[in-house]
Formats: sequence, C-alpha cells, structure tokens
Amino acid sequence: MGKKLQAPRGTYDVLPDDAVRRDHVEATARRILGAAGYRRIETPTFEATELFARGVGASTDIVQKEMYTFEDGGGRSVTLRPEGTAPVARAYLEHGMQKLPQPVKLWYLSSFYRYERAQAGRYRQFWQVGAEAIGSADPAVDAESILLLAELLESLGVRDVRLRLGSLGTPKTRAAYRELLQRYLRDHEDQLSEEVRARIDLNPLRAFDADHPGTKAVMEGAPRLLDHLSAEDLDHFAEVRALLDGADLAYEVDKTLVRGLDYYARTLFEFTSDALGAQSGVGGGGRYDGLIEQIGGPSTPGIGWAAGIERILLAAGEEPVPAPLLDLYVAYAAPEGRATGFELCWEARRAGLSAQFELAGRSLKGQLKQADRSGARFVAIVGPDGATLKDMETGEQDELEPGRVIPVVLKKGKTLA
Ligand code: AMP
Repeated sequence: MGKKLQAPRGTYDVLPDDAVRRDHVEATARRILGAAGYRRIETPTFEATELFARGVGASTDIVQKEMYTFEDGGGRSVTLRPEGTAPVARAYLEHGMQKLPQPVKLWYLSSFYRYERAQAGRYRQFWQVGAEAIGSADPAVDAESILLLAELLESLGVRDVRLRLGSLGTPKTRAAYRELLQRYLRDHEDQLSEEVRARIDLNPLRAFDADHPGTKAVMEGAPRLLDHLSAEDLDHFAEVRALLDGADLAYEVDKTLVRGLDYYARTLFEFTSDALGAQSGVGGGGRYDGLIEQIGGPSTPGIGWAAGIERILLAAGEEPVPAPLLDLYVAYAAPEGRATGFELCWEARRAGLSAQFELAGRSLKGQLKQADRSGARFVAIVGPDGATLKDMETGEQDELEPGRVIPVVLKKGKTLA
C-alpha cells in the first residue's frame, strides 16, 4: 500500500449531505431566474486561453496569477475557466444570439478554477451560480439583475446581507478620471505600497483594494470616480437606484467600488454577508458593455453577476438535511427468498416507490435493524412461502403473497400521506 491519497489543496469533495444543500441552491436558482426568463447555459470547462486574456483582462490578478493554463496535446494553450462571463459572451457571439429578441438572459451553475491562496471560503475549484443579460443597456435590466440576486440570497437564507452599489461611468469618463487618479497617486507616491506604486500606470484603480495602511490612508483622500461621471452616466445610475428604491431593496452607494477593466461600464455591485469571515463577498457583478467587442463582436451591452455556492452555503448556516424517504425495505428470511425479494424491490421502484434490498448478507435480525436505520416506512420479509409485510409506523403485520406487497404499500402509504 502506498501513501494514502487526498484531494488536491484548495479542492474538496461534495459529500451526499452537501449535495442535498447544493441541489436546493440549484432548484431555487432555477425557479427564481426561470420566472424572470433566464435560461440555463453551460459552456465547456476549458477555453482557449486567449478568451480570458481578452475577456477578463490581461492586467487582472486572475489572468496574471491565478489561471490554470496548459498546452493540450495539439500544442494549443487552454485554460480551465476562472469565471463565467467571458465564456457566456463567447457563446452568445458564436451562436449568433444577437439575432434573438434582446436582451438574451442566461444563467449557469458551474465549477471554476483559480490558483488562489486556499482558506475558509476560498478554494481553487469552486462553484458559482451566475446570470447574464446581454443585448440591452436599459437601466431596468440592471435593476432586475440586482433584484434577482437579492431574491436568490434571501430565499436561500443567506444571513446579514449587505449590498454595495456603484457606477463606473463609460470608458471615456473613466479614462479622464484615471489620469486624475494617476496624478494624485504620483503626488503621494512615497506613502504607497510598492505593489500599488508599480501599478500606477497599469491599473491605478487597484489602489482602492489595497490593505497596506499607508496606501489606505492616501486613498481616503483620493478623487472618486462617482464624482466625475457624465450626465448620461448619472442619469443611468439614478434610474437604477430609483427602480431599486421602488422595490424596497436596501443598498449603500459605495464610491470606492471599482473594477479596473476597460469593458466594465456603469453599474457595479457587490453583496457581502457579515456572517462570513474575511472572505465576505457572496456575489457581485456589473455592466460590461465593452466585453463583446473586446472578444471580437459588435458593440453589445450586457450585465450580469456571479455568486459563490460555498459562500452562500456558509452564510446560510447549516440547516439539517432531511433524511431521504424510503417506502419499502425488502428483507429475506432465507436464501430461497433472495431472488423473489430482489425482483420485488425492482417492481416497487417501477411502481414509483423508493425501495432498497438487502445487499450486505446480513442475518434477518441485522436486516430489520438496517431497515429501521434507513427510516423505512414498510419492510417486506420474503420467505420461501410468501411474504410478511410490516408497517413500521403502526407495528401492524400481514402475511401475504409477494405479489400483493406493492398494491398494499401503495394503498396504505396513500391513506397515511
Ligand atoms: P468574482 O468572479 O471574483 O467576482 O467572484 C464572485 C463570487 O464568487 C464571490 O463573491 C465569491 O462568492 C465567489 N468566489 C470567487 N472566488 C472564489 C474562490 N476562490 N473560492 C470560493 N468562492 C469564490
């Protein structure tokens, strides 16, 4: 025997009880998003590396440090998807979805891969549920998108949720602001962290995310993008806010919420949960009106979000998972009953019952104990001369032909339900 193997660092197994909770997240997402006209999409686990270089942005941490990139057997560079928006935008373009009525609304629930420092709430393989609405710049799409995520988190019992909302304006406004910020950062260069200093040219907005105390102090006084938006951008933002106010959704306008990529535009938002530790982001998103163009399509507006399944489950707390229902446990009293019992179990399943058969060679006593542990409602003990059906709820016991077991279970089960 060699060394006992374990799952790679930053990954984990979804065990059956966790799978039940995830199924619930998925069913809730399907219900809420489906009711708003979103349809499921699933893209491949890996894509051409270029999609993320162009569709996430070469200057981001994701692309610079976190991608699982490798050459496949044919010498092409491929990358395990680190996020869902660029692949969905690619699929929209590739399948000519601009010919469909706009906006096209799509949702996904998939696994993503980032080489990050593994810790509670942060993994190297994680799952996100996400929604994208592509093809309309109407502020109502923004408000609808945000409200859907708020409703999803609420329905799933995510605790202590806070929403921060901002606007980035358009690339043109942002370019002017960027120069202003760069000038400000250069004026305070001696107080900044080395990392931020090195990025003044490449990505000055990142300075707002810094943990470094000196940088933080400088950023307190930095000019805010929100104070430098154009009139159209401000109108868009005001309309999004009015719709959210009308829907009674609480939020906080955050002037420091930033994302340093050229194709992000206008609305930006993030949901956090105070029930989480350091990794408090549950989900977030924004408008990406320049993205489709960036990956080779015509200028097309879009907005979307993604929320982490692990963080949703963490912030929702552990609700007890209900035991799976078992209608019938088929035991056998003697080896002669085995074949009949096996067949009976299958027939029960075909009749729509949940049924299990003894599979571990237990004694009759052991089988009955196992039936009890499985929470079986009925137990059929098949013997050479017929069957005994025991109602585990009432203790009632009947001798009958094996062929009668299913009709009786169906009938009794129904009267009690
Ligand atoms: P992002 O795509 O980075 O905007 O992340 C959206 C959401 O996905 C976050 O709010 C988290 O809930 C989740 N998330 C992002 N990265 C990770 C990770 N490494 N592990 C677990 N969840 C993550």
